Amino acid sequence: MTTPTIEVTNVSKSFGGVAANKLVSMSVEPGKITGLIGPNGSGKTTLFNSIVGYHPIDEGSIKFEGQEISKLRVQQIARLGMLRTFQQTRIYGKMDCVQNMLISVPHRTATFSDMFTKYPAELTEKAEHLLEFVGLYQKRKLISGDLSFGQQKLLEFAMALMNEPKVLLLDEPTAGINPTLINGLIDRLKRANEEFGITLFVIEHNMRVIMNLAEKIYCLAHGEMLAEGTPDEIKDDQRVIDAYLGAH
Ligand code: ADP
Ligand code: MG
Repeated sequence: MTTPTIEVTNVSKSFGGVAANKLVSMSVEPGKITGLIGPNGSGKTTLFNSIVGYHPIDEGSIKFEGQEISKLRVQQIARLGMLRTFQQTRIYGKMDCVQNMLISVPHRTATFSDMFTKYPAELTEKAEHLLEFVGLYQKRKLISGDLSFGQQKLLEFAMALMNEPKVLLLDEPTAGINPTLINGLIDRLKRANEEFGITLFVIEHNMRVIMNLAEKIYCLAHGEMLAEGTPDEIKDDQRVIDAYLGAH
């Protein structure tokens, strides 16, 4: 058996009296696209935050490529090659796209000033190549605050790729994006997985999107892991159907 890229075992996390994750266990296999679904408030973002070291967990174990990481901080985990994107975009609206790309590489570059002095041509070339990959090459000199919300999400994705992560955690990448851009984004996510070999772990509220994208899907409800399976298994799982219906 291969070592999972991410292995979560019996992880719990509470905020005050709210148990956001209760004894959650799951794994992400190398080279695959794994999905995480569940109604609003079911604990998806909390699980991501625990995995990337954004907050300490109350109990359990989180391993990255076999190494315990549950006591490490965000920057240490990022250096191992695991990055996440946010539900809300985090770009610098007053900078253009290329500038946003250049400031997104603290994990690989020794100091901030190195980035602009030592490797400008190389990094700029890489930034432009990745902007082309996500379909933003024509907009590369535009102030990113002027991009549409969907384009900002594509920029954020490209910024994450600048760091050449081994694994990328995406929190609702298609939320608020129009259907045309959603298809483009799905295509880019698949290509990042296939061509760059990046393992993906994707939170997605849109069932059609996750069914199309992931080979394996986990479903959280009320902080607990309710079900796991292939898209076909999850689609027909009565517990998952009830959880979604119960949420509306
Ligand atoms: P999801 O991403 O599935 O919508 P979250 O993980 O954001 O769910 O939230 C799960 C539960 O934990 C919710 O009840 C939410 O209010 C609570 N929660 C999440 N983050 C915090 C926090 N920083 N402080 C207090 N409560 C939180
Ligand atoms: Mg969330």
